[in-house]
Amino acid sequence: MSYLVLARKWRPRKFSQVKGQPHAVRALTNAISAERVHHAWLFAGTRGVGKTTLARILAAALNCQKGAVPEPCGECGSCKSIEDGSFVDLMEVDAASRTKVEQTRELLENVQYAPASGSYKIYLIDEAHMLSASSFNALLKTLEEPPPHVKFLLATTEPHRLPVTVLSRCLQINLRSMDSETIGDQLTAICKGEGVEAEPGALARLARAANGSMRDALSLLDQAIAYGADAVRESDVADMLGGADQPSIVHLLNALAVGDGEALLNGARELRERLADPANILAEMAAALQRLALLQTVGEGVLGEDDESGMLAPLAEALPADQVQLLYEIAIQGRSKLALAPDPGLGLEMTLLRMLAFRPETAAGKTQAGAAAVAAGNGAAAGGSVVSASRPHSREAAALHGRTRPAPSEAPERAPEARASVPEPGPGESEEVAREPAEEDRNQEVAPAPAPARGGALSSKEWPETVAGLGLEGLSGDIAAHSELVDASDGCLRICLDGAHENLLTDEARQELASALQAALPAVRTVEIEIAGAGKGDTLAARNRAEERRRQQRAEEEFKADPFVQASLEIFDAKIEVGSIRPVDSADAQPKP
Ligand SMILES: [Zn+2]
Repeated sequence: MSYLVLARKWRPRKFSQVKGQPHAVRALTNAISAERVHHAWLFAGTRGVGKTTLARILAAALNCQKGAVPEPCGECGSCKSIEDGSFVDLMEVDAASRTKVEQTRELLENVQYAPASGSYKIYLIDEAHMLSASSFNALLKTLEEPPPHVKFLLATTEPHRLPVTVLSRCLQINLRSMDSETIGDQLTAICKGEGVEAEPGALARLARAANGSMRDALSLLDQAIAYGADAVRESDVADMLGGADQPSIVHLLNALAVGDGEALLNGARELRERLADPANILAEMAAALQRLALLQTVGEGVLGEDDESGMLAPLAEALPADQVQLLYEIAIQGRSKLALAPDPGLGLEMTLLRMLAFRPETAAGKTQAGAAAVAAGNGAAAGGSVVSASRPHSREAAALHGRTRPAPSEAPERAPEARASVPEPGPGESEEVAREPAEEDRNQEVAPAPAPARGGALSSKEWPETVAGLGLEGLSGDIAAHSELVDASDGCLRICLDGAHENLLTDEARQELASALQAALPAVRTVEIEIAGAGKGDTLAARNRAEERRRQQRAEEEFKADPFVQASLEIFDAKIEVGSIRPVDSADAQPKP
């Protein structure tokens, strides 16, 4: 019995058998049915998606002796000889091996002569982008005015490398890279047809490994059948692909869910001992996390018949949805940076430890500080995911020695005082900064009111503190905050309210403010409130804004200097959105003893 590789045996011979390219099939069958088949077609797409397969079916459809439309019959002499490659009117060339202009001329030598046996002479040029410039020129003449019995079918993985003069004369059909579901379905159908026993998880794994190429998937299936002696088992496939089997991946994720560093690292080492490739381990983890996210969002049933849904279900409960997202992000980032690691095994280990050290704020508990707003450079974590870690360095060290306890909510040592997502200060406040007083160390919550004895000689610099000491709220407090001291002598206190806040000044508020000032400053007998444009800026409001500015600046500096943040930036290839950093109210950040 001669052995025929699956890719050839199961190559579609009719349009209806083509998987995953319905738009291309429709375009071609419509053209054939309408008898308006363009004289030059360009099939573009990545490797193994069916470019030459579609071209051959088209060639057969055009030459089928039964004249069946739009599908070739698959039984007549033409169809059969096209299938086995012996059809004389199908000139199939691989441009990669025939780039020279002489070869192209030779190929086109007989283009004027009528087809020998079929209705059309078909020129199928694979890897067309490989032709030399002079070859393209030689081809172009024929492309411009082809004899009516000639069709050109070009296939390429890189259409942008074709000259525009050629592109403009072809009808281009873009073939999609196949999703792993389409590939998986086809693998399942083939195994059924071949009478091969196959575990669904094994086929899903092969489909993912094929990376969008049906041809690669079929040759992997060939290998898997040989490897497993006519049965396709997931553990065999995992070994064959240098990947990790599902139970091992679930084991790693379980260790992450409970924060067990020892189990995590041991699990990874066992996989490595079985020669699993670090990149594949991370890819399988990412794939499992993606399915976990699906499970959490859509619920059971989305994972199909895989037994793996049973393994993942408890994890869907144990891992919060945002942690699943974060782990996924770290997995794919870690995978993309494996090449930069001292060696891939170390890169894998560090990525796993990172998964252990970083957890979303909701998962880590409310007492966690050190929140960082990072927007990943690749946009995957856009929206400013909030990430925090409790002393990541010490936890990583602990994990290395297998002493990690499950998700402790340790107190931060020195947290960057920052919180996410508050808009940047509006325009106009920058002037305030220029006018702010130069004093430092004014960040007491409430300044003590000046001694009453000094009331008569109050300076305008002291005024904001005096106002703060009044402890007024509501309108009267706002008026005081937006007022400057004009004069305080002879028992008469004159203040000036910024005209922009004139509407605050009700009789009631005016009276309340006057009473408060008289109580705080016994020397004051009368209080006069004037209204004017912005003055020198010695108001409590301006001082508070300036203070806010200074704290903001400090928060940003501390945030950027924080080793945790720097690590996050590196790990996630992230940028700081400066506008999203906000100082945390000191009362919130430091629990009172
Ligand atoms: Zn036929």
